[in-house]
Amino acid sequence: MKTHYLKKGDPWPEAVSDGLVSSCEECGVVPIIDYLVSDKIWKNTVPEKIRAKVVCLECLIDMNPDIIASIKKIFVCSGGQTICLKPTDLYDYRWKK
Ligand SMILES: [Zn+2]
Repeated sequence: MKTHYLKKGDPWPEAVSDGLVSSCEECGVVPIIDYLVSDKIWKNTVPEKIRAKVVCLECLIDMNPDIIASIKKIFVCSGGQTICLKPTDLYDYRWKK
């Protein structure tokens, strides 16, 4: 894992979560897990009135259970640090419900 030390005033890396401080527009929870999906999938999943807001991963999956296979990156943000995780495997066990 490569660590990128950012100084105050440095430009923020594109498409990296900066630590979520806003609550989810749907459920009101302040998530520590952020994610990256394509703009096309975002537009096709999230209602236009809240696209510029925060939607937590759980609410996003509630909107479209199949979206989880389209997540490009997952970010865990806490304590002034963000760790970037890349999904590698998906285990679909929706038959349990
Ligand atoms: Zn939510």
